[in-house]
Amino acid sequence: PPRRSENINRVHGCSADGIPVRVMANINILNDAREAVRQGAEGIGLYRSEFPFILKNDFLLEEQQYRIYRAIVKSQQGKPVILRTADIGGDKLLEGRSETEMNPFLGVRGIRFSLANRGMFREQLKAMLRAGDGADLGIMLPMVSSVEEVLEAKEEISICAAHLEARGVAFQRNPKIGAMVELPSAAMSVGDLARETDFLSIGTNDLIMYLLAVDRTNENLSYLYRCHHPAVLRVLATIAGEAGDKIQNLSVCGDVASDPLMVPFFVGIGIRNLSVSPYSVEPVKQILKRYTISHMERISREMLSINRQKEMDEFIGSFTGL
Ligand code: PEP
Ligand code: MG
Repeated sequence: PPRRSENINRVHGCSADGIPVRVMANINILNDAREAVRQGAEGIGLYRSEFPFILKNDFLLEEQQYRIYRAIVKSQQGKPVILRTADIGGDKLLEGRSETEMNPFLGVRGIRFSLANRGMFREQLKAMLRAGDGADLGIMLPMVSSVEEVLEAKEEISICAAHLEARGVAFQRNPKIGAMVELPSAAMSVGDLARETDFLSIGTNDLIMYLLAVDRTNENLSYLYRCHHPAVLRVLATIAGEAGDKIQNLSVCGDVASDPLMVPFFVGIGIRNLSVSPYSVEPVKQILKRYTISHMERISREMLSINRQKEMDEFIGSFTGL
């Protein structure tokens, strides 16, 4: 009988020629974190911390957040955990806390909301730092449009660490700090962002929306919302290229990170970390096992050479995965 250690949850992602590609999980609630472990995820690549806020329709106190984050961290048994600070705004509004805006997706969202609500931001950062005590903790900032926002957030993290120190509670003194690359401005600043962060994660859900000016929630425009658009693929390749020797610290956490064609594309442009929904972890590992790295490089080159949608549709239609 197969030994326990041969269970799916012990197998790391890798290409047919044995190059590791880490497959982590995107989670929204604690139950997802447990499922991620069962599915063999190599840690949490994205925890959407706005979920408890949205459920409560209000801010949470540090202690309430700490309990949730600590349970998530503990569930991973030492594997890395990236907690994203609240991505409030856009279509995720809090009654009485969010302003009414003409264009919420271009408004006070993500890191902008956090920097505009410093008290709330600090409660959250303190809860995250405490939850990460003794763990491999990453704190990730959403909706970053400039290096300055990262610097301001890092300053806030230092202030929170000093507060916790003064209180004498246990906390993570060396969290990894990262940013989402999900705005065109961030995509064009990857080198600068990489210098000020420990990791970056491409959020294709928003990046596609902001590159193509197509609301991701507007069903009438769903035919225009395409990851395979030549401009989107070029921007993704540019991001990977700009990461340079920091490519090991770059991941993709948008939904298309589990797409059967996009998996080889991402690995082909150099990406070695994917974060997908828990139930996609094992399927993505299976896709990775089908291709050598050079095969995936060939697939990505071919996709990048296509500049007409019709041709792209034909390529996708004829793609057998072999
Ligand atoms: C993204 O934008 O791709 C992403 C992962 O974040 P969210 O879906 O929470 O906006
Ligand atoms: Mg996003």
